[in-house]
Amino acid sequence: MTAIGTAELKTMFVAIAAAIEADKDRLCQLDGVIGDADHGIAMALGFNAARDALAALDLVAIEPTALLNTAAKSFLNAVGASSGPLYATALMRAAAAVKGKATLAADDVIAMVQAMAQGIKDRGKAEIGEKTMIDAWQPAAEAAAAAHAAGKSLAESLQAALTAAERGAEATKDMIAAKGRSSRLGERSLGHIDPGAASAVTVIGAMRSSLN
Ligand code: ADP
Ligand code: MG
Ligand code: MG
Repeated sequence: MTAIGTAELKTMFVAIAAAIEADKDRLCQLDGVIGDADHGIAMALGFNAARDALAALDLVAIEPTALLNTAAKSFLNAVGASSGPLYATALMRAAAAVKGKATLAADDVIAMVQAMAQGIKDRGKAEIGEKTMIDAWQPAAEAAAAAHAAGKSLAESLQAALTAAERGAEATKDMIAAKGRSSRLGERSLGHIDPGAASAVTVIGAMRSSLN
């Protein structure tokens, strides 16, 4: 693995924005079933804004933490839906996790993924089983950390994260929403994938593809 610097992180945001843009309609459709049909639009607005804000930065002059804080701020400003503060917190925590580093090693990327999941959890107060993006992010972070601790490469660890996120998102079908807008549906939320868990798979998949 080559060290990951600001150029690679910028590329990661370009990759996430492209993946979310390509998935936008499906995410809106999923949200249309148990929410208000804007999740794809919200995620695309957020990651496109982050990508555009990074395009204006002097990548040589800044460290990864500043890049990630810029992404967090622009995501928050662009998104009115609940995914705005959740991902902004994830990105702010990612920034804090790599503070002081000029480049990121595998350890730092794993720490960043764990910080993102924990940030979403702290901001949204959701637990596993409540049918939210946490049902994808938490197992993904745990799988990445476990694979890394077992001596796997960064690429393998991020693949483990993606597989766990996919399983977690699929499992939300059998959950009753207990947090967010869809919790108003109660049992009527059963049988449908949570849109935030679905988009987490897309985000983590793009991270895996660009960071290895
Ligand atoms: P809104 O519901 O405001 O329209 P979005 O459609 O962008 O927001 O996002 C909905 C997604 O946000 C849900 O599918 C769920 O995954 C996630 N979500 C909502 N509330 C929470 C929460 N408290 N904790 C974690 N994730 C949440
Ligand atoms: Mg919505
Ligand atoms: Mg909304």
